[in-house]
Amino acid sequence: MQDPISKYPKPPFKRQSQPWPGLAGKMDPKPDHGETSYKGSGRLAGRKALITGGDSGMGRAAAIAYAREGADVAINYYPEEEPDAQEVIKLVKDAGRNAVALPGDLRDEAFCNKLVSDAIQGLGGLDILVSNAGHQQAHDSILDITTEQFDWTMKTNIYAPFWIIKAALPHLEPGSVIIGTTSEQAYDPSPDLYDYAQTKAATMNYVKSLAKQLAPKGIRVCGVAPGPIWTPLQVSGGASMEKLEKFGSMSSMGRPGQPAELASIYVQLAASDASFTTGAVYGAAGGTGQP
Ligand code: NAD
Ligand code: MG
Repeated sequence: MQDPISKYPKPPFKRQSQPWPGLAGKMDPKPDHGETSYKGSGRLAGRKALITGGDSGMGRAAAIAYAREGADVAINYYPEEEPDAQEVIKLVKDAGRNAVALPGDLRDEAFCNKLVSDAIQGLGGLDILVSNAGHQQAHDSILDITTEQFDWTMKTNIYAPFWIIKAALPHLEPGSVIIGTTSEQAYDPSPDLYDYAQTKAATMNYVKSLAKQLAPKGIRVCGVAPGPIWTPLQVSGGASMEKLEKFGSMSSMGRPGQPAELASIYVQLAASDASFTTGAVYGAAGGTGQP
């Protein structure tokens, strides 16, 4: 038994800012991705997973959990995130699983196609696709968002999943699963996340349409909708310094979540015993903004 209120750090947090995309290793306090806590029980034995944004945050928590549940794991990340990524590669290998590192920029369609084929080659197949990478920059006003910035957010959060899912689909056998990371922002958008929040609504929406489209093929599509979670995305432009200081205080728990607290959700949605669960979005937001 553990009290969820006292389990993890609560605000105020130290002001801190990193250049995008940010590193988990440089955050204070360091996020918990389940490195020392997640225990597997063979729920994903023999599965093969590709996780975008697998170096840090929710993606790293999923990668650690998947490996400890018996899956081989390929992670994609932005090249500058190599230090975070190498920690994940080591953790997956320490779990006795095959680990594949696939750095590259998801805003590029040709790279997204290559990512999928390299993952399939490196893993010897693919049956879990976690489209988790995301770009978030806070702007007080729509007037502050340039076309280039808008395009960056759309390319990362909407086009990349479209390209990656299209490339992967011909290779997915019945029993495979696609999981998208959406957000409480899909349901209750913040005023300073005009562009980002609409991409998360789009993610929630594609989960539900694709679930219907792919159910007859035996492929499930689900989503995870986190609330405020302590990750590099927030300290590299995702949140203002004012928001960061009191990050998570608006949740009913009075603190942000940690990536480790979502790991078992990514496992549950991917596991074969969830065979009737598709089109479902699983929220973890500390009481507010749920799907
Ligand atoms: P994170 O910074 O740890 O992960 C985001 C990852 O996206 C980065 O690690 C990076 O590898 C990847 N990425 C971004 N742009 C990329 C690009 N052009 N090319 C390649 N990779 C790129 O932060 P996180 O919070 O764990 O984010 C994971 C997902 O969770 C995102 O989709 C985000 O929108 C979503 N989310 C986060 C929160 C939160 O409060 N942290 C809340 C709801 C949803
Ligand atoms: Mg990262």
